Amino acid sequence: MADHTEGAILQRDGRTYAVMARSPGGLVTPELLEKVAATARKYRVPKVKITSGQRIALIGIPADDLAAVFEDLGPDAVRRTGPCIRYFQSCPGIENCRNGTQDSLGLATMLESLYREKPFPGKIKIGISGCPRCCGESRTRDIGIMGNAGGWTLLFGGNSGTRPRFGDVLAKNLSTSEVLDLVSRLLEYYQIHAQPKERTARFMERITLETLQSDLLNLIPYIPLER
Ligand code: SF4
Repeated sequence: MADHTEGAILQRDGRTYAVMARSPGGLVTPELLEKVAATARKYRVPKVKITSGQRIALIGIPADDLAAVFEDLGPDAVRRTGPCIRYFQSCPGIENCRNGTQDSLGLATMLESLYREKPFPGKIKIGISGCPRCCGESRTRDIGIMGNAGGWTLLFGGNSGTRPRFGDVLAKNLSTSEVLDLVSRLLEYYQIHAQPKERTARFMERITLETLQSDLLNLIPYIPLER
């Protein structure tokens, strides 16, 4: 029998759940908003919240309604709660902010399409900013990507929480295709070497930046040895 709670997040009351709607980079469409509103109204969802990760949470759904809520939201519902990439946070970027130098929203959408719901050893949060003002909180995300006039800067191993850590700057002035390639290589390395539930901040503290450089970064042709 199918587990209708899969993908739903049990709330503190121990009997109701939250369901997330997919909105990479905080981007939504009128159709998604209408679907969320119709679902919330139909099932009398008591609370709808924009999360800190720029997702839409429908909160307070009884277990008996979960299957129908997931069916109504269809592919717009997030169906995974285990360790994976939790969100793809983004600032408005070059098209919508006068300070923007890179297309952060476009990159968030690309990364979400590549990695949505793919499992990893620990949860991962991605923050993308269109310029060094860093409104996408890139410095304190597992993968932080920040635009500047020469391209993208990529950081890895950032975290907020109770033991905050700035991500290590791994490369600068990357093209968008180089960012996609480096993210893919980093995630593969993390997938292989991280311990279960080990977040990237603790992972980097354990393995050290020097090891990541010698194992991976020094072998990548578009990253200069002198960083
Ligand atoms: S990070 Fe830069 S581009 Fe993005 S919203 Fe902030 S100022 Fe604008």
